[in-house]
Amino acid sequence: MKFDTVIIGGGLAGLTAGICLQEAGQKVAIVSAGQNAMYFFSGNFESVGPARERIAALFAAAGVRTNAADGLQLMPMGSFRPASLTLEDVTVYPEEHIAEKALIVNFTGFHDFYGTFIAEALEKAGTACRIRFVRLAEMEHLRTSPSEMRSVNIARLMDEHWEKVVADIRVLHKDEDLIILPQVFGLKDASVLDKIRTALPARVSFVGTMPPSVPGIRTQMLLRHRFELLGGMFLMGDTVTSGALHEGVVSSITTRNLDTARLFADHFILASGGYFSKGLATSPTKVYEPLFGLDIDYPENRSDWYREDFFQDQPYMDFGVKTDDRLHPLKDGEPVKNLFAIGSVLGNTRKEEYGTAAGLAIRSAFAAVDIIKGGNL
Ligand SMILES: Cc1cc2nc3c(=O)[nH]c(=O)nc-3n(C[C@H](O)[C@H](O)[C@H](O)COP(=O)(O)OP(=O)(O)OC[C@H]3O[C@@H](n4cnc5c(N)ncnc54)[C@H](O)[C@@H]3O)c2cc1C
Repeated sequence: MKFDTVIIGGGLAGLTAGICLQEAGQKVAIVSAGQNAMYFFSGNFESVGPARERIAALFAAAGVRTNAADGLQLMPMGSFRPASLTLEDVTVYPEEHIAEKALIVNFTGFHDFYGTFIAEALEKAGTACRIRFVRLAEMEHLRTSPSEMRSVNIARLMDEHWEKVVADIRVLHKDEDLIILPQVFGLKDASVLDKIRTALPARVSFVGTMPPSVPGIRTQMLLRHRFELLGGMFLMGDTVTSGALHEGVVSSITTRNLDTARLFADHFILASGGYFSKGLATSPTKVYEPLFGLDIDYPENRSDWYREDFFQDQPYMDFGVKTDDRLHPLKDGEPVKNLFAIGSVLGNTRKEEYGTAAGLAIRSAFAAVDIIKGGNL
């Protein structure tokens, strides 16, 4: 099979690049091994910087609604973090005193939402909190096992039964000016978030749960849908096992499911993520890129990889694939001319130009796409 571009990895970086290239009329395939960082997403796209408007427009076309206000996001453990581009689930506040009184509502038996931590933190900032629980008959089958009582399973039920929860909360509500709910609503249809906000008698804030992240999964599904709607081929659950790389050019890749068939393309994009997604790997003696054996920017002395103090910034988070100024990764010091490395596989090697975290995924994807579209490789 022959494509204009084949992308290895269907996380935020791979999908952003895939959507842009399909929009530009290319024929693109994305091979995606499995879960990606979006399944753990906080709802805040960090470090998007100058790409904020461009990515918000791409998201809007995919049905992903974002809030581009600068402010503070209330995190699952009650802390606040700066936000500048968030999913619509997230409320962005100007300061930590977010209400006079807050009603925090959880589901009985749901341990992945930390109402007590949130209440403790908010009370320090002057918000009086009450925690109450809702129990739905429709949820009883989930309660039989703690492993079933997870955010996504609850979210599947909420697509249908959110109105019952709203009715219960209306009974629980007294005089609070803010109602805090776990992010388990609108998995399939984010318009439910607006309906809940309208139906409740106070402002509503949806706060993150432990993973998996319902807003992150919804976003991933919408982006994939957009890519496929534009004609892209998304090979879900398949893994690229090898690439034919000769004299600085990749000609094809093989995947586990396609057996002996190969995917040929003019351009390849490596968007395979960091350690978390196995785009980068380690052994006791080295850090390496497992697919092409690309050059990695890291110190050889193992004691320089990490700091003893677990809570300090860890140097290994900065390690990533070395690239030239056009995002072509290096192999034995030489650029691979038709391959681009984007997203977390870069570690923080290019943070001056492309930022970090989601910003890195998005901005490096845009950069690679612009180079490919410009034809000036
Ligand atoms: C747990 C976690 C939570 C995060 N939360 C946030 C957040 O809230 N906000 C923020 O701004 N940033 C967050 N980040 C930073 C994150 O790295 C970026 O937000 C971004 O989503 C990374 O996208 P990516 O596409 O580069 O990599 P990933 O999302 O890791 O995607 C890489 C994909 O490539 C696939 N893959 C790997 N190897 C192969 C192969 N050989 N063949 C086929 N597919 C392959 C993987 O299965 C995976 O699906 C988080 C990171 C982690 C690890």
